[in-house]
Amino acid sequence: MKRVWNFSAGPAVLPVEVLQKAADEMLNYENSGMSVMEMSHRSKVFEKIIKDAEKDLRKLMNIPENYKVLFLQGGGHLQFSMVPINLMKNKVADYIITGEWAVKAYKEAKKYLKANILASSEDKNFTYIPKLDNLAIDPDSDYVYICQNNTIYGTRFTELPNTLGKDLVSDMSSNILSEPVDVSKFALIFAGAQKNIGPAGTTIVIIREDLLRDDLPDFCPTMLGYKIHADKESMYNTPPTYGIYICGLVFKHLLENGGVEAMYEKNLAKAKILYDYLDNSKLFKGTVVKKDRSLMNVTFVTDSEDINNRFVKEATEAGFVNLKGHRSVGGMRASIYNAMPIEGVKALVEFMAEFERKILA
Ligand SMILES: *Cc1c(COP(=O)(O)O)cnc(C)c1O
Repeated sequence: MKRVWNFSAGPAVLPVEVLQKAADEMLNYENSGMSVMEMSHRSKVFEKIIKDAEKDLRKLMNIPENYKVLFLQGGGHLQFSMVPINLMKNKVADYIITGEWAVKAYKEAKKYLKANILASSEDKNFTYIPKLDNLAIDPDSDYVYICQNNTIYGTRFTELPNTLGKDLVSDMSSNILSEPVDVSKFALIFAGAQKNIGPAGTTIVIIREDLLRDDLPDFCPTMLGYKIHADKESMYNTPPTYGIYICGLVFKHLLENGGVEAMYEKNLAKAKILYDYLDNSKLFKGTVVKKDRSLMNVTFVTDSEDINNRFVKEATEAGFVNLKGHRSVGGMRASIYNAMPIEGVKALVEFMAEFERKILA
């Protein structure tokens, strides 16, 4: 069976071993006589699946005991609302604007509280991460918000902002489990699963326990309170069971392959191959300030829109798919998440070099 090299920004490539295991278990999960998809979420079998998934994620990220892990739904977008609704006390929050996802989170927060823009890189189409020292943190701020890896623009925070002790919230949708993070530096981390973990539809929230509260605003729908999900161990209603199962398989796969440290080494190596090539190419160039380059989403262009289009077309025909850049950046984007093998990146660079020789001949 022929599989393509899939550079999609999300939903994205998954480890082939995980897909194969899911296929093997599709009709009869561990002698239950049924698929995980057909199982009660209250069954013993599923209870073990979700408990194991949580345990393995805790191990992978070294999540401290005073943090809850929630498996929710609604994607990154619903977190843009849940974060302000659940965390507001003084009704002030500070946002660092590094791309479209941060803008969307900021706009959503403005519906509920006074959202300040602490720093922004919009002036240069989000091609860099703003300076993070001397930020004018509002003394009343309930939290500081960042989007740690900017999927569309290809930038990444390599250090965290000095929040002057304020709680830090991070959207890690596209970098979770790709590099080690010290969870204790964050009040809340969230990630849609479909970039680096599993199927779209599952959303992971890691939240410090003291932020769980009963005194939510009256308008807050029951489903949007973190505490009820924490109290019911992500089983307040039917959770996205099959998605959680696949996430669990991915966690086990990561643990069997050296965990996040090993992924990080591999991701550094993969990104280096691509960026080194871009820095030496006479046709292609990266779009982002070097020190802020993402390890997950590599954005690049040529000087000509026609050549960009031709490249994407020919690459697709050669089995390198989903390389077209997001419409707000143009050009190309190669997303090289955990599950993209180094061979895929090497093959892409070979294809690019060949294309370059042909164009410049
Ligand atoms: C994809 C993405 C989102 C949006 O996720 P949905 O699950 O589609 O709501 C938010 N933030 C980041 C960083 C993303 O990459």
